[in-house]
Amino acid sequence: MDHFNKTLAAHDLQLTRRETTTLQINVGLLCNQTCRHCHLDAGPDRQQENMNQKTAEAVVAYAQRSKFDTIDITGGAPELNPNLPYLIESLSRISSRIMLRSNLSALNNGKNARLMDLISLHQVVIVASFSSLDESQANGQRGDGVFQASIKALQKLNSIGYGQSGTGLELNLVANPTGAFLPVPQAQSEKRFREVLHKKWGIEFNHLYSFANVPIGRFREWLKASGNFDAYMKKLANAFNPCAVDAVMCRALVSVSWEGYLYDCDFNLARSIPLGGCKRTHILDMPGKPQPGNPIATSDHCYTCTAGTGFT
Ligand code: SF4
Repeated sequence: MDHFNKTLAAHDLQLTRRETTTLQINVGLLCNQTCRHCHLDAGPDRQQENMNQKTAEAVVAYAQRSKFDTIDITGGAPELNPNLPYLIESLSRISSRIMLRSNLSALNNGKNARLMDLISLHQVVIVASFSSLDESQANGQRGDGVFQASIKALQKLNSIGYGQSGTGLELNLVANPTGAFLPVPQAQSEKRFREVLHKKWGIEFNHLYSFANVPIGRFREWLKASGNFDAYMKKLANAFNPCAVDAVMCRALVSVSWEGYLYDCDFNLARSIPLGGCKRTHILDMPGKPQPGNPIATSDHCYTCTAGTGFT
């Protein structure tokens, strides 16, 4: 039994599925950035790990027969996948809520005018990575120039109605610490980001979500290289909040990779831990959603989701 499961058992808790309402689609590891905290080791050198048209069609067919309420498209940088417009157009006819996770610089790279039109036409919810209000901290984590590129992208999104009341175009930010420490309380961050972004750049947004960095992938390598790994894992485990277990995302979400294989979440995908900890399952062999009550595969990185107020 892994350490995380021992902690659950000590609190008389079990991590099993409820009704699966969200399909998270990881279209691949290709990205224009190489962020230090990336749990997927995504980057410009990952062209091969990119969802092709055939798999995109299989994903749409799976969504059609499973009827998910929400579709959550992520990567790498999903904007760099040529099948993204097809996925948005097809899935908007199947599910009521389509989310696109964006690093902002890929979205507003001057080549995506058609994509900007498409996302606003289908009222796609933008979930934008925006780690810090401090330019040097943000660039230190995400790369030179990323902070200013993000500001310009947020201003562009505001100009087409995102984050503005009454437009139905939702713009949410995701903030994460720029080092081996836990995030400040979410409500506090949201208040400060709202004040500073409005005052300094006239930027508006709907919600801010803050989460702890997940100790896998590039962030795990950095923790080990900087001698922070053990202390960080202890920090996460000591912040274990049994109440947070109830709402962790894997209870209502299933992730599909660029090859079409299923996982309990994007973090398990990054570590190649298959759905429920069983043999790898491809969507072509999956009649519908994973069943309520099914076990969820866990590992030490799960402490990220149950630290403090958790990660939902
Ligand atoms: S890391 Fe994944 S499997 Fe573990 S608790 Fe979080 S969402 Fe669930």
